[in-house]
Amino acid sequence: MTDICVIGGGPAGVFACFFAANENNKVTLIERNEDVLRKLLLTGNGKCNYSNSDLKSEFYNFGKDHPYSTLIEEFESEKLEEFFMDRGMPTYAKNNCKYPRSERAETVKNVLSEMLAEKKIEVITGRKVVSAEKRQGTHFALKFEDGGKIECKKLIIATGGKAYPSTGSDGGGYRLARALGHTVTFTYPVLTRLFTEDKAVKDMAGVRFKAKVSAVVEGEVISSEEGELQFTENGLSGICIYNLSRYLSKPIEDGLNCNVVVDFMPEMAKESMDYYIEKLIQKNKDWRGLLANIFGEKTAGLIYKRIVSEANGATGKDLISHFTNGIKNYKIKISGHDSFSNAQVTKGGVSIDEVDENMASKICPGLFFAGEVLDVDGKCGGYNLHFAFASGRRAGLSAGE
Ligand SMILES: Cc1cc2nc3c(=O)[nH]c(=O)nc-3n(C[C@H](O)[C@H](O)[C@H](O)COP(=O)(O)OP(=O)(O)OC[C@H]3O[C@@H](n4cnc5c(N)ncnc54)[C@H](O)[C@@H]3O)c2cc1C
Repeated sequence: MTDICVIGGGPAGVFACFFAANENNKVTLIERNEDVLRKLLLTGNGKCNYSNSDLKSEFYNFGKDHPYSTLIEEFESEKLEEFFMDRGMPTYAKNNCKYPRSERAETVKNVLSEMLAEKKIEVITGRKVVSAEKRQGTHFALKFEDGGKIECKKLIIATGGKAYPSTGSDGGGYRLARALGHTVTFTYPVLTRLFTEDKAVKDMAGVRFKAKVSAVVEGEVISSEEGELQFTENGLSGICIYNLSRYLSKPIEDGLNCNVVVDFMPEMAKESMDYYIEKLIQKNKDWRGLLANIFGEKTAGLIYKRIVSEANGATGKDLISHFTNGIKNYKIKISGHDSFSNAQVTKGGVSIDEVDENMASKICPGLFFAGEVLDVDGKCGGYNLHFAFASGRRAGLSAGE
């Protein structure tokens, strides 16, 4: 019988193994793919945005007063940077997003693989765990898809979420958690594109524009972001939209009225914009040309069409207000979100009410969780990988005690 089994060879699982292994513990890592860390290689467009210098717990769904905020505090971004530096991987930050100096996710994979070798972790690859049960209250019995079995005294589940299932994380870990008595909350794809049926918006495919975007559900602003808005053939993309998807995926699936409201000129307050527009449209009758000077041809066309259709012959202050609205309050009705196949992260998972800040199950002694299998999701920008590392470390230390 092995002392500790870790299921899932992603960043959370590898960190869990490294920190669990000590002179008293034999640790075994089980990964269903032929090699570990397949998803990690895709991260940050192959550059691996592994953390963020502006690491705060409010950028995760658990928020700033949750016990999990201690995970981030005790293993902050600088500590992870130092950890990698000591292992021969210098890093750099761009707009707070941290990457390996080589700009290659492969480098991070190499460092993590060396960590497994250093601690002499037994790595079983190409075998999927399909069931887990607690026997006689003392140990865990795991069954592989090929019929094989393994037993362990302690178990860490680090099987990831459901996003990008082609990488191996297909949500199978939820079944293992349920079998051991845990609740799994409903899951949604997040950090993903949003779709619209609005033809005028679809016609903008290929255009990118710096803007402020807000997620509005049933008329209420839920969250706002500034950044590069990308128009695609199906709707909207870009980091700011990925971040809004964290707030919109569920209401979209619940059939609520969801909109993204775009402020094409966030640097100018509404009152100043009213004043500016009033001056401009008095002087210039070519309103579309006027908008094109500010926003470029295509975006101007989009805004102009909306103003003309909504202004409907209005004059004076009403007309100005339609102009300002078209520019600062451009509403796009959202009809859907992209699927798990293309999403970066899963919202939902093993309930964090049942897993303490040491990553220990409150239900099943000897069981621990780490990484995206938990109901934890963070913003785009290195937050999700940082949580995988921090929770993996914590789960490993706790199980290894
Ligand atoms: C395209 C893409 C880009 C991303 N870019 C970034 C980024 O730049 N920065 C960032 O912070 N986050 C990024 N993310 C998110 C980040 O990759 C994940 O949050 C992170 O990998 C989660 O780590 P994990 O160890 O919990 O799970 P995973 O990395 O998903 O690893 C889980 C492992 O468990 C294995 N497994 C699952 N079930 C079983 C089973 N039953 N038996 C055996 N093995 C099993 C899987 O094969 C997998 O290897 C990105 C995600 C995607 C898809």
